[in-house]
Amino acid sequence: MNKYVFASLAVLIALAVWLTPSGSPAVRAADGHRVALFEFLAEVQNGKLVRGTVAYASGGSDYATVSAQPSPSAEIAAPELWIAEGKLTPDDVRLLRSAHFDEQIGGQQPAAAQPRRALLREIALNSVYIGLFVAAILLAVPLLQKNMGAQHTQFTGALSKTGPNPTRFDHVAGCDEAKQEISEVVEYLKSPGKFARTGARMPKGILLVGPPGTGKTLLARAVAGEAGVPFFSVSGSDFMEMFVGVGAARVRTLFKTAAKKSPCIVFIDELDAIGQQRGSGRQGNDEREQTLNAILVAMDGFDAHLGIIVFAATNRPEILDKALLRPGRFDRQVHVNLPDLDGREQILRVHTGRLSLDHAVDLREVAKATPGFSGADLANLANEAALHAARKNRDTVDRADFDEAREKISWGREQRRVMTLQDRKTIAYHEAGHALMQVFSAEEGLRLHKVTIIPRGQSLGSTHFTPERDRLNYSEAQLLARLRCLMGGRVAEEIALGQITSGAAGDIEMASNIARSMVFEWGMSPLGFVALTQREAQMAGSNARQTVAAGETMARAEEHVLALLRDQYAETRRILTERRPQLDTVAAALLDRETLSGEEVIRLCA
Ligand code: ADP
Ligand code: MG
Ligand code: ZN
Repeated sequence: MNKYVFASLAVLIALAVWLTPSGSPAVRAADGHRVALFEFLAEVQNGKLVRGTVAYASGGSDYATVSAQPSPSAEIAAPELWIAEGKLTPDDVRLLRSAHFDEQIGGQQPAAAQPRRALLREIALNSVYIGLFVAAILLAVPLLQKNMGAQHTQFTGALSKTGPNPTRFDHVAGCDEAKQEISEVVEYLKSPGKFARTGARMPKGILLVGPPGTGKTLLARAVAGEAGVPFFSVSGSDFMEMFVGVGAARVRTLFKTAAKKSPCIVFIDELDAIGQQRGSGRQGNDEREQTLNAILVAMDGFDAHLGIIVFAATNRPEILDKALLRPGRFDRQVHVNLPDLDGREQILRVHTGRLSLDHAVDLREVAKATPGFSGADLANLANEAALHAARKNRDTVDRADFDEAREKISWGREQRRVMTLQDRKTIAYHEAGHALMQVFSAEEGLRLHKVTIIPRGQSLGSTHFTPERDRLNYSEAQLLARLRCLMGGRVAEEIALGQITSGAAGDIEMASNIARSMVFEWGMSPLGFVALTQREAQMAGSNARQTVAAGETMARAEEHVLALLRDQYAETRRILTERRPQLDTVAAALLDRETLSGEEVIRLCA
């Protein structure tokens, strides 16, 4: 039976070729060069596809057809229209916008009017197409039944053939810590054998954690570019299909292809789309669980010296299935945070490199005016500014263009909180208070590492300290110092701004826990050497505790907890009031530079 189908297929194809009007752009546009969405997006990222069209299926849907004409280059011989369709993630939309794609809702491919004469031919052509379609289905069904996975070989192979990957570490600015953390991976990928000989074990999986647009994808690409190895990129949402098992088959194909091309990098964007805790969430879990299991199996399956490193990106690490974070899987986390002032300046430098800037443009000033902007926002800003200048028929991009672009982008970032100057000031004083108390507690072994007013996760700012050495045991003096550090934030707000905010909630909780433990468990109160609580027997390993003391004793113990906290608060107030000038200096420096190292704070306090 297949023989007949093949024969009629051949006849139909010949007919179609004969009937297709050569050189008519209208028909070409309707057909175009269909590619997978991720391949299309990769070419957009490579800069080969720009200024195309995004046609959304209908209002509010993120399902869209994208099309664009490749910029003529040596690599693509005939610049015909590229078309792809699928669900667009916010990242994708951002990418397409930055490549100046037009967006339309429910739009069709632009098709030029057909001359009437062509009507007959068109009818003939259409019936041939229908015939082709039927024949193709007849042919495809048995094939599909035989091998679900086979159709996806082309799914993963595509990205590696986009030519050399030009992305380098230089293109990623303002996240030096993250870069440093993963730079050893480059060495490894360049010569996996060297590492294998010494028996050194490389991480199999590295989880890049950070808000959208901070350069996670870019960073993973840069590692591949630096090491000169293939880069296989997929998005977690690519794996979510209607049919159970398809995602898992894709994972297997992906890793099989990667194994053939190793050393290489596999990048899974939006890992949380598949990697959510199993047994949680909505219905339709089967597909996700199978896909997740396939990833776990694949990662356990390949040898560490094979030279495959799996990068994954997420902005919600806390919802990931714990199995993904076990040793031998994504056991290394690298945080990619929103850039600070210096970082933003560097990113702007990267993205304005090709623009001709007016001499009055000071990128430092632009960076100062854009707190909270991600790398993607800044790339967008540079682009919008250039567009604005072009619209005004100017040859150089000036300050007004940047102002205009910034306004536009700030308004566009609906969900993100816009921080007022007053907010920033409060946070700066709060963090300065923590930092100063840390510095003054140096003899208690707490060393200030860095302090920042850049929001991260839930917290508005953060003060990081490193213990001088690993602690198994805390002295009472150290615990009291820790309490004062926690109180420093609130106290600073109170004495400098005369009003307090809810920003200290986390600090209060932690300080209360420490104080309770001191009194209830560690015998550090006038009640003396007695335990008032005890770990709940049946919940070994958990921190749940139950009281064992009499109610009256507990009441007295609570009094001691309150007294302890009250005394330390008064002490913190005394210290910071006395050092008010230093507090002002550090807060002002934070407002200006956003992040300060421990040494810088110490220098400012001197
Ligand atoms: P993420 O994957 O974290 O959402 P992307 O890597 O996709 O972010 O970033 C999108 C674009 O934003 C990049 O292609 C790049 O142009 C720009 N960008 C983001 N972060 C940086 C950075 N740190 N340095 C330079 N450009 C950046
Ligand atoms: Mg991304
Ligand atoms: Zn705090």
